[in-house]
Amino acid sequence: MLEKRNFYINGEWVASKNQKDIEVINPANSKSCAVISLGGKEDINDAVTAAKKSFATWGYSKKEERLTLLEKFYELYKKRWNDITEAIMLEMGAPKDFASKLQTGTGASHTKSFIRYLKSFEFEKSLGDHAEDQRIIYEPKGVCALITPWNWPMNQVCLKVIPALAAGCTMVLKPSELAPLSSMILAELIDETKFPKGVFNLVNGDGAITGDALTSHPDVNMISFTGSTRAGALISKNAAKDFKRVSLELGGKGANIVFKDADNEAIERGALRCFRNSGQSCNAPTRMLVEKSIYSDALERLKKYADEFKVDTPDKEGDHIGPVISETQYNKIQTLIKKGVEEGAKLISGGPGKPEGLEAGYYVKPTVFADVKNSMEIARTEIFGPVLSVIPFETEEEAIEIANDTPYGLTNYIQSEDQEKVKRVARKLRSGMIVANTASLAVDAPFGGFKHSGIGREGGKEGLLEFLELKSIGGWN
Ligand code: NAD
Repeated sequence: MLEKRNFYINGEWVASKNQKDIEVINPANSKSCAVISLGGKEDINDAVTAAKKSFATWGYSKKEERLTLLEKFYELYKKRWNDITEAIMLEMGAPKDFASKLQTGTGASHTKSFIRYLKSFEFEKSLGDHAEDQRIIYEPKGVCALITPWNWPMNQVCLKVIPALAAGCTMVLKPSELAPLSSMILAELIDETKFPKGVFNLVNGDGAITGDALTSHPDVNMISFTGSTRAGALISKNAAKDFKRVSLELGGKGANIVFKDADNEAIERGALRCFRNSGQSCNAPTRMLVEKSIYSDALERLKKYADEFKVDTPDKEGDHIGPVISETQYNKIQTLIKKGVEEGAKLISGGPGKPEGLEAGYYVKPTVFADVKNSMEIARTEIFGPVLSVIPFETEEEAIEIANDTPYGLTNYIQSEDQEKVKRVARKLRSGMIVANTASLAVDAPFGGFKHSGIGREGGKEGLLEFLELKSIGGWN
C-alpha cells in the first residue's frame, strides 16, 4: 500500500496537522491501494497563507518567466507519462490504453494548448484608436482554490492548474479524495520544475471538511470547481459571503439526437460515447433520441452492440471499459437501473449485477433501456455509469424539446447528414457544447455549460481568461 500522507505546502512535503487518514480504494478489486491524509482547517490555512504570500511576487512575474517554467513542466510531464498513467489506472480503474492515450493524454494536450495561448496573449492593450489614453490590463485573480473530481483526474487538474499558473495566480489544489495519486505526481512535477515556493500547494481531503475549509477561507479570491451540481451549489454559498470569483463545471445529461438520415455508424458511436470511461463523463450522451422510422432497427443494433461490449480489468490492453469509481457509485447505479425497470422502461441489454468473472471490483454491465420517457428518473438523473436511455421522437421540434427538457445544459449531440438541419438544431439546443456526427471538440474549444451544468468556461483562451481580472485605466499617456 502506498504511503502518501504528506501535503505539498510552500515548496515542501509536510505532514498533516489534522492526523486523520483516508484510504484510497482500487476500484478494480475493492482493496486499499494507498493512504492519504484528510486536511483540516490548519492545513488549509497553512496552504492559503503560503499562496497569499507568494502572490505578492508571482502575481507580478513576467509572462516570459511563467512561459519558461510551463515549458519545462510540459517536458517533465511527458517524462512521467507512464507513472501518471499507472496512478490513474490504480486510483480510478481506467484501462491501460484509455488511461494513457486519453486520461494522461488530455493533461498533456491542455498544457501544450495553454502554453500556445500564453505566448500570444496580450496582458496589456489599448482600448482602441478612438481613446488613446485608455489602457486595459489583465491581472491575475489572486489566490485560487482548485477543487477537482475523480473521473478525468489529470484532465481536470491541468484545466485549472496550468491556466492559473499562466495567469500569475497562486493556488491550493484539493483533488478528489477518491483519486488523489495522479495529482500528487503533478505536485512532484511542479516541485521539479522549480516554480517559486508557495505558488502551487496541494492539500488532500474530502469535500465536507477540507473542501469546505478551503472555499470558506477569507484569503481565497477565486474558486474553480469541477464536480457535482450539489457540491457546486454549496460552494457558491461559501463564495457569496465574500464575493469570491467562482467558476463551476458541473453535471450533464446530454441528448444525442439521431435523425433518420444519420450515417451508418451513428447508433454504435452514440452508445460508445455513452459507455466510454464507464459512463463517468459529464459530457456523455446518456439520452439517445431516435427518430421513429429507424427506432426498431436502432434498438436491435444497440442490443447487439451493448451485449458484445467488453468490460474487463484496467491492466489489460484494449478498448474495453473498467470498473466505476467506488462502491457508493456502484450502488447508486444499481438503484437507478432497478428504478428504470420499476418505472416501465424496457431493459434490452445489461441490467443489475456485475458482469461474470468481475465480482471483485465495481464493474457494471453496459445497460440499455428502450421506450424511456423523458420524465422517468433514468432520463433526468445523471447516472454516471454505462447506462443509456433510448427515447423515440417524431419531429425535429419534438426532439429539440425533449433534449432541452432537463435542468442540465452541458453537451448535446446531433446525427444527420443534412448539414442545414445540423446547424438549425445546433442553434436551438440549450447547452454550452454541441457535437455533430463524427466530429469532436478541439482541445481549446471553450468547455462548459448552460443552466445547472455550471458557470464559466475551461480550456483555450477562455480558460485562461477565467483566472484574470480586468482593469481599465484612464489617463495612460
Ligand atoms: P463531487 O461534487 O462529489 O466531488 C468533486 C470534488 O468536490 C471532490 O474533490 C470533492 O471532495 C469536492 N467536494 C464535494 N463536496 C464539497 C463541498 N461541499 N465543498 C467543497 N468541496 C467539495 O463530485 P464527484 O462525484 O467527484 O464527480 C462527479 C461529478 O462531477 C459529476 O456530477 C460530473 O458530471 C461532474 N463533472 C463535471 C465536469 C464538467 O466539466 N462539467 C467534468 C467532470 C465531472
